[in-house]
Amino acid sequence: MKDPEKDDNLDRELESSRRDFLKKLSIAGAATVAGAAAIYTGYHYEKTKESANMIRVLTEDNRLVEIPKDQVKEYASSLTVLQTRGREGIPGKRWVMVIDLSKCRNARKCVEACQGAHHLRPYEYHINTLVMQESVNTPKYFMPKPCQHCDNPPCVSVCPVDATYKRPDGIVLIDNERCIGCRFCMAACPYSARMFHWQEPKDAEADKGKVYDIELNVPQKKGTISKCLFSADRLRENILPYCVSACPNGVYWFGDENEDAVTNGTTKETVSFKELLKKNSGYTLLAELGTKPRVYYLPAKNRLFEFGDTGEDNKEATT
Ligand code: SF4
Repeated sequence: MKDPEKDDNLDRELESSRRDFLKKLSIAGAATVAGAAAIYTGYHYEKTKESANMIRVLTEDNRLVEIPKDQVKEYASSLTVLQTRGREGIPGKRWVMVIDLSKCRNARKCVEACQGAHHLRPYEYHINTLVMQESVNTPKYFMPKPCQHCDNPPCVSVCPVDATYKRPDGIVLIDNERCIGCRFCMAACPYSARMFHWQEPKDAEADKGKVYDIELNVPQKKGTISKCLFSADRLRENILPYCVSACPNGVYWFGDENEDAVTNGTTKETVSFKELLKKNSGYTLLAELGTKPRVYYLPAKNRLFEFGDTGEDNKEATT
């Protein structure tokens, strides 16, 4: 027969040990919830039998635990954590981008998506579309130009404070907590891929107090350099870069050279990186300089639209 007093004591013990466990969990710090970072406060846990109010989270030491949903709050990463992982990159990857010039209609969705993500003004660019023409006898075409994430980056060699660096996964980043604004890197870059913040960044006021994320370069900082980051923050979440996802015309392929696979941001088709370059005569910009870019281009051949024809949906964006 059941002893109600014994049951009550057992219940109390279970509750107390659960509180202790959750308390320790909160002190330990971060937990991951459905791909997003989260932290559990643990101090106001109330016993509940409704599993609908519970959520499973993975602790730092890889244990799966259940906690009440209303006790989960956004985990604000520390500057040190973000800087450390921002230097380490994503293990095993070698990111590459392929830009198909035969598809670009200057819709400028890539430019806008990038500016939105990095809190830039309409005239501040990490990527821009340039008008190109090889000779008076050849047609004009558009060329999106981000940082080329060179494997032999002159911008990195000239930085006197190790603010800009090359990661093992191929991305060149800038730590604006270290950048002293000397602009040597701007002068060294043969692709004019960097910009200097002469004035207070657009969202300086709104971004005040936010922890600086080296992989997003937000908050931007007056007197420092910024440039394309290959959307390192999105890659960490397994999502294609902002520009790649935003393009409506299938211009961008992005992927991992180690896996020999690139995915088109518009069609979502995945193909062999090497085959794509081979079949379409892929090339890099200013290859003769030995900078070894990680951005490849496919020539503006066989275009099925006139220069300036942006397509029905995109007319507004080109004015
Ligand atoms: Fe550096 Fe310019 Fe190469 Fe980007 S394109 S890695 S900024 S040299």
